[in-house]
Amino acid sequence: MTDSLESGDSAAIRDRLQAVQERITAATSAAGREPGSVRLLLATKTVPPERIRVAIEAGASLVGENRVQEVRPKYEALADLDYERHFIGHLQSNKINALVPYVSCIQSLDRLSLANKLQARLEREGETREVLIQVNTSGEESKFGIEPGDAVDFAREVASRDALVVTGLMTIGLFSDDPEVTRPSLATLRETAEAIRQASIDGIEMRELSMGMSGDLDVAIEEGSTIVRVGSAVFGERQTS
Ligand SMILES: *Cc1c(COP(=O)(O)O)cnc(C)c1O
Repeated sequence: MTDSLESGDSAAIRDRLQAVQERITAATSAAGREPGSVRLLLATKTVPPERIRVAIEAGASLVGENRVQEVRPKYEALADLDYERHFIGHLQSNKINALVPYVSCIQSLDRLSLANKLQARLEREGETREVLIQVNTSGEESKFGIEPGDAVDFAREVASRDALVVTGLMTIGLFSDDPEVTRPSLATLRETAEAIRQASIDGIEMRELSMGMSGDLDVAIEEGSTIVRVGSAVFGERQTS
């Protein structure tokens, strides 16, 4: 997994990163939104650290991992670089201790039992973490996340766990090759955030909407995304094992 990078490979990562940054800039401006109001998060599951390094050295500053077992080795391999790490995968409770030291935000808070275990661990250390509530906006059984209709109550519950700082919502939109098919699920995330805002829950801020991936980031930005999570459009197609 650590074969050295061909220079053409590094150049391709830099070129694709720039193309994605240009897509983000164009979509942000077309939507009449503030320049810089959408951040790019690199989704780096299965991507070896040498390739992530190329993207960070070319200006990427936010990285998201899905798999707890990849977090620490990559953190150690990239320890000399300055960048922000989030967790974007499904988090099993028994992996909390292996994850929490290495990330500033957990984007996939999807159940109260997880909130309770995170709270207990953080409280013990006197620490806090930002979290996004993951919402299942596609109605697909296979997707993790709180149902949109349960999100206000869930947010209220999480707000009372003082080590967890809720800053917004995350979703994986309905899977499709056609971003217009995905759009309604992305709009649902925006509406869910609005409903939580209306509920004026103490300690809850709704400033982040994490939605949009390689295929639908432009539509996601139109729908209000503040963090797009991009993997294959920067690193190329993932190897399936
Ligand atoms: C892999 C992944 C992405 C990025 O997907 P691409 O289609 O490669 O851009 C975004 N979000 C999550 C949660 C992912 O697991």
